[in-house]
Amino acid sequence: MLNRSVELFAKALAEGRVTLVDLTQTLSSEFPCIELPPQLGPCAPFVSTEVSRYDERGPAWYWNDFSCNEHTGTHFDAPVHWITGKDIPNNTTDTLPVADMIASACVIDCSTEASTNPDFLLTVEHVLRWESVHGQIEPRSWVLMRTDWSKRKSWEEFRNANETGQHTPGPDVAVVRFLIEERSVLGFGTECIGTDAGQAFLFDPPYPCHHFMHGAGLYGLQCLCNLDRLPSIGALIIAAPLKLKNGSGSPLRVLALV
Ligand code: MN
Repeated sequence: MLNRSVELFAKALAEGRVTLVDLTQTLSSEFPCIELPPQLGPCAPFVSTEVSRYDERGPAWYWNDFSCNEHTGTHFDAPVHWITGKDIPNNTTDTLPVADMIASACVIDCSTEASTNPDFLLTVEHVLRWESVHGQIEPRSWVLMRTDWSKRKSWEEFRNANETGQHTPGPDVAVVRFLIEERSVLGFGTECIGTDAGQAFLFDPPYPCHHFMHGAGLYGLQCLCNLDRLPSIGALIIAAPLKLKNGSGSPLRVLALV
């Protein structure tokens, strides 16, 4: 029998029965980049240079050159980004399976906790409490940590750094392992500048979300926004990184179908 599911989905879209939510921050030089200690290689910010704008450099056309780090703005982390994922097959942006670019999402609301504690850590207990309301996280789902961090408008507020480093929420070590080993998730997404908490350099292992997710061939999404417009379950996420040769990640447009 003819499978009409794509046709029915297109009809639902055309009839406005599917809402699209843009989970992407505008990519510009104003958007904060991750900052590392000075002895480490820096993350280049986004730079756009005008080539022509209906002028002597191009009378009928407008276009720009741009450059940035692969991990600038709302972006995707591929397994090869971390040393634990360096030998996994199909671990780069040009080789990872396209089937992984569309998946459902579980949104865990940590906005209340993060508003009073910028170092808030998502724990297994928190996830189990979420599951007692919404059901068990389905395999191959994105887990998106809502913190409302994307509503912080200045670099200072967004990075929230002091002499002890960045103070931003993220997952603890045990919950990362739980999501991978017990729930077979596809990846972890966050509104902050990295999938790991600002203080995760102090964890064992350091940066556990990068360490374990990428080591398991799984993915990260960072600098997401509008997570407050998603249901806890039931949204479909389209996250297709640029097909950069040997890319460790890429800025991208992340869309949710609700
Ligand atoms: Mn990244």
